[in-house]
Amino acid sequence: MMWCSRRALIRGAALTPLALTAADRLSRRAERYFASHGTYDHRTRAYDLHLAYDPAAGLLDGRAHVHAVAERTLRQVHLDLDLAKLSVHDALVDGVSVRPGRKGNKLVLPAPRPITAGTPFTLEIAYGGRPGPMRTPFGQIGWDRTGDPHDGTLVAAQPLGAPSWFPCNDRPDDKAEFTFRVTVPRGHQALANGTLLERSSTGSTECWTYHHPGPMAPYLAALYTGRFTHETWHARDTTTGRRVTGRNAYPVHLSRQARYDLARQPEMFETFTGWFGPYPFETYGAVVVDADLDQPVENQTVSVFGRNHVDGDRTWETLVAHELVHQWYGNSVSLRDWRDIWLNEGFATYGEWLWSEHIGEDSADTIARAAWHSLAKKHDGLRIADPGPGRIFDDRVYTRGACTLHALRLTLGDERFFAMLRAWHDIHRGTSIDTAAFIAHAGRSTPATVEPLLSAWLYDKHLPPLPPPCAESTRS
Ligand SMILES: [Zn+2]
Repeated sequence: MMWCSRRALIRGAALTPLALTAADRLSRRAERYFASHGTYDHRTRAYDLHLAYDPAAGLLDGRAHVHAVAERTLRQVHLDLDLAKLSVHDALVDGVSVRPGRKGNKLVLPAPRPITAGTPFTLEIAYGGRPGPMRTPFGQIGWDRTGDPHDGTLVAAQPLGAPSWFPCNDRPDDKAEFTFRVTVPRGHQALANGTLLERSSTGSTECWTYHHPGPMAPYLAALYTGRFTHETWHARDTTTGRRVTGRNAYPVHLSRQARYDLARQPEMFETFTGWFGPYPFETYGAVVVDADLDQPVENQTVSVFGRNHVDGDRTWETLVAHELVHQWYGNSVSLRDWRDIWLNEGFATYGEWLWSEHIGEDSADTIARAAWHSLAKKHDGLRIADPGPGRIFDDRVYTRGACTLHALRLTLGDERFFAMLRAWHDIHRGTSIDTAAFIAHAGRSTPATVEPLLSAWLYDKHLPPLPPPCAESTRS
């Protein structure tokens, strides 16, 4: 299959993080979860992925153009790639052909000459094979096939599955601009993050080009191929007046259920912009794939749901809200490290509770008190700001994280609480942060001290009591 033609789109990530000091690099490497993924030796500005997929054979033919900057003097560049299923045929560093090597699941590219700290460089990697999900502590994650017959694909890569389909620096805080040029057989479609720029046909194939300025972490990059019905919707950002176009896609046989279950996304969008501030990206959409998924995933600008998440009765609508909230908290403001996962999941879960309150079902206070009772029945507590690598998706990270925000809301009052949430996104938009930064931020939002309250909720195993309800946060 032919790749689509290349157009110059790389402009560098919209927000480039500051260079790290050597001490920063060492301390981040020492403290982080899943240290075998990613490197602090370089940071990425942009990925430009040319991908040709043959669904009959399940074969992916890829060429990745990576623009990066050295954080220290480099004699080799390390990238994450599932080398058990994909092989590298050819590689260039700064335009010079080099011999690719490997170290476990690390692709190692020798630099033709040392790249000094702060110097931009480019990589071009031709690779291919039959991609599939990667074995991780959280099950099989990443690229997978969908449908019956298996002629579609999906990507659900959180947290460690990005190397299943492209070579990357697989750290949640290495955020970059992305371009995808995806060639599929005519009659198939390709969906990826960001905006569809171009769709062109050549003989029996079609090329779909998407661009997302990001910045986006590799685990939030997504690609879906197959046959979909599309639906366009519009919503207004209530803070800026901007009209945003959303796009949903789902298999034809799930149209009725999916259309109904996703129908309140425009209302969510408008409501959430009121609570959380301006929507951070250029577009949004939901893709339903013809496969069961354990959980939906909040890929940036394009969340994915399994066919098991649509039933025509809005049974899983809370998850539709949850994934949209992640676009602010988790994607735009993202993690320095997976240990801080409560900053994603606690916020998105609290967004579910706020949505319930908004549509006249149980109030956030009612849900928080029920969640607190169920947490109190568990024998072992969890330090949710450092739950351990194997427990980043433990239910308690979600519910105790959301209870933490509710306790803060009861302490601050609604006006200060929502101003604090909006400012948290506004100040840290496009960057990666940690729990200490959140505690400091919350502390600045009120003359009262909230550090002891937050420390108890986030760092003690013992479950603290919820403050008593106050009138303004108990609407039902
Ligand atoms: Zn989530």
